[in-house]
Amino acid sequence: MVSNPARQKTGLFASSPLPQLTTLVMDLVFPPTCVHCGRVDVPWCAVCSAELDMLPLDIHLADLAGFTASAATGLHEGILQSAVQAFKYYQAPALALPLGRRLSASIAAQHWTFDMLIPVPLHPKRLAERGYNQSQKLCEVVADMTKIPCITNALMRHRDTPHQVGLDRQQRLENVADAFTADTQQIADKTLLIIDDVRTTGATLSACAAAALAAGARSITALTVGVARG
Ligand SMILES: [Zn+2]
Repeated sequence: MVSNPARQKTGLFASSPLPQLTTLVMDLVFPPTCVHCGRVDVPWCAVCSAELDMLPLDIHLADLAGFTASAATGLHEGILQSAVQAFKYYQAPALALPLGRRLSASIAAQHWTFDMLIPVPLHPKRLAERGYNQSQKLCEVVADMTKIPCITNALMRHRDTPHQVGLDRQQRLENVADAFTADTQQIADKTLLIIDDVRTTGATLSACAAAALAAGARSITALTVGVARG
């Protein structure tokens, strides 16, 4: 994987009064490069796009506290990891389509049915920083393909939490405990599929499940694009 620190710097200027001009200047000085292969000019290139489309499903099932079932469409490594990183950090929301397609194919392969799809919510502050919730983008693609409704206001993140990177499992659990609340009126007695981009320790998903169970959900399943090798 090829990273381009110069591109990451553009995020620091997100609150600039002239963000588009800043981005334009940064693009001229530091042309974007493909997150996976390093080709110049785009954060995600056509060659990697074709490779991602050819990547077979590699469904990983796991037991996760609070969930009826938990699955990922593949290991969080190689091109799948790069695609998720490009999608999440390099302003490449178009990747929601191929990644959402993998999620939809996994639901079909498991013969799963649900009353609703729920994205892992971002705190409003992080949403403002990034401009979009990557889980919601995935969820909307899956909703379109499966015709299961995506409900975005049934689960809320009411407490901002520090970034999870670098924390061990116990620290992550403490970091996200009680960060979420769920709307009983919308989810009581419903079967839910919670969607996220990556499962690392499962701490965030388990905190979501705890909130949904407390609000009376009948069953909760988790599905992520990737899962970290345990
Ligand atoms: Zn590439």
